[in-house]
Amino acid sequence: MLTLPGAIKSQSQQETNQMPSYTDFYRRSIDERDSFWAEQAALIEWQRPFDQVCDATDPRFPKWFAGGLTNLCHNAVDRHLRERADQAALIFVSSETGVEKTWSFRELHAEVQRFAAILKAQGVGCGDRVLIYMPMIAEAAFAMLACVRIGAIHSVVFGGFASHALSSRIDDAQPVLVVSADAGMRGGKVVAYKPLLDEAIELASHKPAKVLMVDRGLVDFAPVPGRDLDFAAERAARMDAVVPCEWVDSAHPSYILYTSGTTGRPKGVQRDTGGYAVALAASMRHIYMAQPGETFFSTSDIGWVVGHSYIVYGPLLNGTATVMYEGLPTRPDAAVWWRIVEQYKVNVMFSAPTAARVLKKQDPACLTRHDLSSLKALFLAGEPLDEPTATWMSEAIGKPVIDNYWQTETGWPILAICNGVEPAPTRYGSPGMAVYGFDVRLIDETSGEEITEPNHKGVIAVQGPLPPGCLQTVWGDDERYVKTYWSSVPGRALYSSFDWGVRDADGYYFILGRTDDVINVAGHRLGTREIEESISSHAAVAEVAVLGVADALKGQVAMAFVVLKDAALAAEPADALKLEGAIMKQVDEQLGAVARPARVRFVSLLPKTRSGKLLRRAMQAVCEGRDPGDLTTMDDPGALQQIKDLLGGPD
Ligand code: ATP
Ligand code: MG
Repeated sequence: MLTLPGAIKSQSQQETNQMPSYTDFYRRSIDERDSFWAEQAALIEWQRPFDQVCDATDPRFPKWFAGGLTNLCHNAVDRHLRERADQAALIFVSSETGVEKTWSFRELHAEVQRFAAILKAQGVGCGDRVLIYMPMIAEAAFAMLACVRIGAIHSVVFGGFASHALSSRIDDAQPVLVVSADAGMRGGKVVAYKPLLDEAIELASHKPAKVLMVDRGLVDFAPVPGRDLDFAAERAARMDAVVPCEWVDSAHPSYILYTSGTTGRPKGVQRDTGGYAVALAASMRHIYMAQPGETFFSTSDIGWVVGHSYIVYGPLLNGTATVMYEGLPTRPDAAVWWRIVEQYKVNVMFSAPTAARVLKKQDPACLTRHDLSSLKALFLAGEPLDEPTATWMSEAIGKPVIDNYWQTETGWPILAICNGVEPAPTRYGSPGMAVYGFDVRLIDETSGEEITEPNHKGVIAVQGPLPPGCLQTVWGDDERYVKTYWSSVPGRALYSSFDWGVRDADGYYFILGRTDDVINVAGHRLGTREIEESISSHAAVAEVAVLGVADALKGQVAMAFVVLKDAALAAEPADALKLEGAIMKQVDEQLGAVARPARVRFVSLLPKTRSGKLLRRAMQAVCEGRDPGDLTTMDDPGALQQIKDLLGGPD
């Protein structure tokens, strides 16, 4: 258990010099919802004030800050010109190309206007969609900010996706223009984007009129005459562009972003403008403890929700500089992120548990080679953070490591420790308590009843309306939105997260896995997460995935795929057998024989989405001899192949 220094207070507390207890703060956010959010709304600027804080006539479709006019780009860029025009806004670091460059708010303002002028010249207007298919380069952030500046709706598609995934998103979002680049780089290899984009447009029924190409000079490509535009030439013609912000209604969609696709067909999450701006600005203070003028480093990718909320919008809305990083956590070596922390005096860092697990396999000395004194904490989100990894990471960097739980849909955390309100101890294995604004409930899956006693497992749900910043609907499909998220308990406006959790007597939640990751062994319902926790506490284990596989006798049995810290430990069949036995014994002792995996297999890597999430559904399908389904979001196909090969061999 780690306690944060009490000295870290949000600015509002420093101003008023009083510490509301988190419980009071939380209660007020629920019981006095409108006055609470009206106060938070003062963190951003409104061109016209809102008439109503929340129109929740239909709690599934709330309109936050109804009647207000604002603009995300104004709040992220223009407003900071008054106080911090020459301070850093965007810090770009590429360990792939060696390029490092900083833009001040003034410079960012100029770049975004140039970009917006290009879009306008191509006829992009308010409400039009612009698809951004880009590597991690500054132009991707300029493009996003330029879109919201003119009221266009961006849809960033992760640059690692190939043509099929891209074409289905083109057809769904129907962009008038696509912004792309010649190539990205990953692990020293050039990954050409243009052929994939051309193929995707070929495959799609919808044809975007224009493609704006950023040429990094990494790979040759052939522009399509009449369609493709060269960004450098277009920009050069508009160096002094002045493009005012388009004031849009608070409910105006700012972007569409597809979920990670871990469990199936990705959903186009539609976000509003005013609610999102307020939610992010507030979260920077209350959850992430970042002050204006400080530096924030999120290692995510702009193609994911963390990239939207905490590389681009959250930090900039708060007047905090943001680091955008192209590269791996381990190249040229595992010190690269920590060198960035030292060099740019990063105050707050945000990453994913998968990155911590990658670092765990590296030389720990790399993590302490640099001066990390500016860093307050490392936040991790996106998948379960097991206790051993959290402890290891925290000890390795000597800083608090703080888990938080959320979804693409919510745009910001549902469960967290709000240290900016009142510092609270971190409990490893738990992402913390219900975040202000989220009326979190635990629901018994069979009865639909609410679970009020501590330590009982249920589905994590939120009583509607969701707070500001969450999804408005599924793009173009209100019916799918209602059916998917709001139909778990008939007659109640309850948003289902599709994750299992328990709450302890102090209000800390523990995530037990996704509702479709439950294993049913001879009538016992087990969360895969519980078994994974137990296995990962074995000293030899770096990473593990547990899944339920159909079994004629027991219905389902648990199967574990384990990545070892040192692969040599299981190189010989006899050693592997011994280790399998030891791991099974550990589960027996910790959880009981019923949870013991029927088989433990050793692999060198696990199949994951490009955002670092385990693809259990695909592994399960392969184990059961079924078609793994939609794999467009998978990272390294070699990982799934390894499992296929293993299963093909003797059992
Ligand atoms: P899809 O919805 O398309 O299947 P996805 O759910 O993986 O994909 P995201 O929105 O990126 O897409 O991920 C949200 C999910 O990630 C959560 O519902 C939860 O299962 C998991 N998650 C996020 N943060 C945490 C955390 N701190 N601890 C445990 N699980 C987490
Ligand atoms: Mg999901």
